[in-house]
Amino acid sequence: MNAPSVADVENLLRDPAPAGDHVPSPTHEVELAPGREYLRKLAVHGWAVPTWPVEHGGCGATEADAAAIRSTVASLPAPDLYAFGIGMSIVGPTLLTHGTTEQQQRWLRPIATGDRIVCQMFSEPDAGSDVANLATRATRDGDVWSLQGQKVWTSRGMYSDWGLCLTRTDPDAPKHRGLTMFMIDMRQPGVTVTPLHQMDGEAHFTEVFLDGATVSDADRVGDIGQGWAVAMTVLANERAGIARGRSAEPKMFVLPSWLRALAERGDLDDRVRRDRAMRAFVNGRVLELTARRSAAEARSGTPGPGGSGGKLRIVRTFKERAELCLDTSGANGMLRDDSAADDFLLSPSMSLRGGTDEVQLNIIGERILGLPSDVRLDRDVPWTQSRNGLLPPI
Ligand SMILES: Cc1cc2nc3c(=O)[nH]c(=O)nc-3n(C[C@H](O)[C@H](O)[C@H](O)COP(=O)(O)OP(=O)(O)OC[C@H]3O[C@@H](n4cnc5c(N)ncnc54)[C@H](O)[C@@H]3O)c2cc1C
Repeated sequence: MNAPSVADVENLLRDPAPAGDHVPSPTHEVELAPGREYLRKLAVHGWAVPTWPVEHGGCGATEADAAAIRSTVASLPAPDLYAFGIGMSIVGPTLLTHGTTEQQQRWLRPIATGDRIVCQMFSEPDAGSDVANLATRATRDGDVWSLQGQKVWTSRGMYSDWGLCLTRTDPDAPKHRGLTMFMIDMRQPGVTVTPLHQMDGEAHFTEVFLDGATVSDADRVGDIGQGWAVAMTVLANERAGIARGRSAEPKMFVLPSWLRALAERGDLDDRVRRDRAMRAFVNGRVLELTARRSAAEARSGTPGPGGSGGKLRIVRTFKERAELCLDTSGANGMLRDDSAADDFLLSPSMSLRGGTDEVQLNIIGERILGLPSDVRLDRDVPWTQSRNGLLPPI
């Protein structure tokens, strides 16, 4: 397959968007409309999610062709696609691995066209890094499950039509084995979504309260009790997605805009700053090359633990650049509409999302380097005993 040229993509984006089937949400329709129109146009050729099969809204591209398509598409202006990201880069690929054919037919195309937005509902007040400790219960009555519990840090929760929700279906099983994954309808009675306000002024996180929300057994993703395996695929896709964003062909001799801005302002005349800038620049380039290698290695199947290394490097590069740009922006760095201030305030969250730095180091230590594993006394103990620290004596 030949990747599209810039002219191909430009022509496509000039055409009117095909009709979609989105049911308008009362609050966010206006801000979501430009992204939705853009994705509908890209979906005509499968360029929003190039590696997905044609029947699900992609174009069946290899990872190499997909990288070229993404790079061409990214070279043209695009609306804000933030709200659509989890569906396209995390939940969609997970459904390709664990969803039934019928589920893939129902869910994937509306995600690719932006007609439906999805969030990922794992974390809870007592289950972050130790997400297998979660307490949201799903109880079965015939073909319907009823959900009770609370999720937190649910990104894009307020925009979402559907939520990929990890629940506990067997509290008497050890914590990893009693979990089941569902795709739930976020716009039903029994689901309350409350925004959480961040220090950068945004409110893209939410708390989600589930109080008698229901989900059909036909919307269970994976087998009962196999939710942990599905969750691992989600997290691997999340890390790979972060790295993939950096895997476009590096433009070795083109300065990134942040570095050009520093140079134009004369901020690189100072030798110490110049040294910091070059370190951040080189780290960024190494990151792009590493991401390309990981993308090539992950050509087939679910991404492996290697994404953890990529994620750690992204965090480091982002923070180095954000701190340098803030330092050089002087009093402007205190202004809310200054991009340096924005990136600086965003940077601590990079170490948390998709699993903390410490958790990535654990994954690398255990699964890549083969080091002895973390102490896990609760692995084989019923969750009802282990959740409150009621472990049996050693
Ligand atoms: C921007 C952003 C977006 C997010 N989006 C979502 C989302 O859409 N859906 C969702 O479900 N969640 C989301 N999260 C939640 C995120 O996954 C959690 O914040 C993360 O897993 C850490 O959990 P916690 O905050 O409860 O911290 P804790 O797990 O309580 O960790 C506290 C500290 O202890 C350390 N620690 C914990 N366990 C270990 C260990 N075994 N070894 C070494 N150190 C350890 C951690 O590294 C951390 O420094 C998001 C978070 C952020 C910041």
